[in-house]
Amino acid sequence: QAKEAGRNRIQWFDPAHEREAQEHRMMLEQLEEALRLQQFVLFYQPKVNLRSGAVVGMEALIRWQHPQRGLLAPAAFLSFIEGSELENRFGQFVLQTGIAQAADWLSQGIRLQVGINISASHLLQEDFAGQLTGLLQQWPALTPDQIELEILESTAIQDLAAARQALLRCQALGVRFALDDFGTGYSSLTYLRQLPVHCLKIDQSFVRDMLEDPDDHNIVSGVVQLAQVFDREVIAEGVESMAHASALLALGCELAQGYGVAKPMPAAQVAGWITQWQARQDWRQLVG
Ligand code: C2E
Ligand code: MG
Ligand code: MG
Ligand code: MG
Repeated sequence: QAKEAGRNRIQWFDPAHEREAQEHRMMLEQLEEALRLQQFVLFYQPKVNLRSGAVVGMEALIRWQHPQRGLLAPAAFLSFIEGSELENRFGQFVLQTGIAQAADWLSQGIRLQVGINISASHLLQEDFAGQLTGLLQQWPALTPDQIELEILESTAIQDLAAARQALLRCQALGVRFALDDFGTGYSSLTYLRQLPVHCLKIDQSFVRDMLEDPDDHNIVSGVVQLAQVFDREVIAEGVESMAHASALLALGCELAQGYGVAKPMPAAQVAGWITQWQARQDWRQLVG
């Protein structure tokens, strides 16, 4: 309590803190307006199977089409949303838009899994499974396993029991889960066993340096084996080059996502990209 009072006093008397707090409030107002004016858009980054060449899915990644500052990546604004009263509304927008996009592609004859990033507070909301049910009913042509919810490994273990319950409720609906940024959250094997997730996403920091850094190479290798032991899928993030792809294949990791395959793109470019990807021979040659 004394600490609390101390913090308030500092905020009150320190002009730098006061300015910061004001900027924070302004940013939240802008973000609220951005939601209202539909300035948020989802970009999509392909997930491919390096061995077969198949396009398995697309991860939805949020962008803010800012009227003055141009297209902004989540690093510029997500931290303001998290923990604010906007968080759940924002999360609902992402969930709804991602699912509608999967249904739209399906209606064009393109069956894709869509990966949607979910924040902890959104997942743990009482009504989360209810929201999901409503959206799946709205698009009956979709099969629930086309939706893969990505949650941060660190988030999942923060409140393991609650996360597990939420995951089980959603899993009953048939949606899939992936543990994002896997390897950065210090989770133990016991945790992993308790979480009903289908896929581990190896954090890009390990993948990026795996060719030069033996420790990172071993971590990637370890996560791939872990996934095999626990019968989970595994995908590498941050696959930037052919050399990464062949190193991953050598370790038994077939699924990949990264700039070497494609950067995130607007939804309207996805169909064209798939056609191009299927015509590309260099990745095929890699796997022989
Ligand atoms: P993430 O879910 O781990 O997404 C992967 C991030 O790595 C994306 O950054 C992607 O553009 C970037 N990336 C992919 N391949 C490569 C590569 O080969 N090299 C490099 N250097 N980077 C690569 P982005 O779009 O800036 O997103 C950052 C994070 O923001 C995401 O990390 C995710 O945690 C969060 N995020 C993005 N969209 C949403 C959303 O709609 N909702 C929530 N709650 N979080 C989101
Ligand atoms: Mg993700
Ligand atoms: Mg990640
Ligand atoms: Mg990340």
